[in-house]
Amino acid sequence: MSYIEFHDVVKRFGDNTVLDHISFGIEKGDLVTLLGPSGCGKSTLLRCLSGLEQVSEGSILLDGADITDVPASKRNIGMVFQQYSLFPNMNVEQNIAFGLKMQKVPQDVIDRKVREAIDMVELTGKEKAYPANLSGGQQQRAALARSIVTEPAVLLLDEPLSAIDAKLRRSLQARIREIQQELNLTTIFVTHDQDEAMVMSDVIQLFHAGRIEQAGTPVEVYTKPVSEFAASFIGSYNQLARDEFQAMTGASVPAGHVVAVRPETIAITADSPADVAGCHVVRGTVAGSTPRGNVLRYTVRVGAVTLRVDALFRSFHMFEPGQDVYLAIPEHDCLFIPAGALRDAA
Ligand code: ADP
Ligand code: MG
Repeated sequence: MSYIEFHDVVKRFGDNTVLDHISFGIEKGDLVTLLGPSGCGKSTLLRCLSGLEQVSEGSILLDGADITDVPASKRNIGMVFQQYSLFPNMNVEQNIAFGLKMQKVPQDVIDRKVREAIDMVELTGKEKAYPANLSGGQQQRAALARSIVTEPAVLLLDEPLSAIDAKLRRSLQARIREIQQELNLTTIFVTHDQDEAMVMSDVIQLFHAGRIEQAGTPVEVYTKPVSEFAASFIGSYNQLARDEFQAMTGASVPAGHVVAVRPETIAITADSPADVAGCHVVRGTVAGSTPRGNVLRYTVRVGAVTLRVDALFRSFHMFEPGQDVYLAIPEHDCLFIPAGALRDAA
């Protein structure tokens, strides 16, 4: 039995089914990410778990106990929302102390815990500041400290970093993960950002239109997408129709499948590659390139197909638009994925 279990959870608003028979478990101490595009039901599932929404069908268990009908205040679940919700009339210290005061914890213990929490989120020096005088990132860290200081059984983080700029966001991702592991806090983290899900999670639950499309470790979900949707959402796979791939490589693809290939698995060379064992080798023409950090992403035309190809960014060795190149595509990196109209294509 898992620490948290969702059993066939259905949530409807009117005749709109927002959660469509969700079932999965979360192990104690894990950080599980709900990843998926906006509107797929991630926040609704968190709200059902925290007790802010009632499920329409199904049940939710926490540590073996059915909490489906337990009031929110009795669930011992801490939540940080997308829009940080600090009390504007309280300073950082008072905000963080609030939950402990409500629990009637002795004042000397409150003082110690608040100090530790402030330390943990690196807000030392900001104890007396009011939310209006904090940056977005500082407010978010105060909200985080406020929710972990009560040591909830479960921590729910609903896109807590979406309002924060890239650099601080990366450092907060690392900090949240550290704190979560240090305290062994069972955590559900919501994001629509695949990179964030990759760096933070023990397990990713990939959501699509109120259902779970795929579940697994970041590496599993990244390397073995089970559907066109999964391949389009994670790993920026090139996706080729069966006949496109067959025409390009001469290889055969099982009926009813598309082929997905990650850009970084394709090797690009000016000259005919020497070692091509186990590879499809095709000729193409560079259409353009975009720097992406330490990688250069080329778009390469191969007949009627355009492929994205990632190469390490070596400024002394770049391919120019219009240049003819060879692409070597390892056969074992060509994934055959069941073709299917996306479930909510309508
Ligand atoms: P996500 O967090 O993945 O972006 P949400 O869980 O917020 O998605 O929303 C999923 C769907 O449920 C959306 O279509 C949204 O409009 C709908 N929804 C959410 N909350 C309510 C509500 N209180 N009343 C009616 N519809 C809602
Ligand atoms: Mg949401």
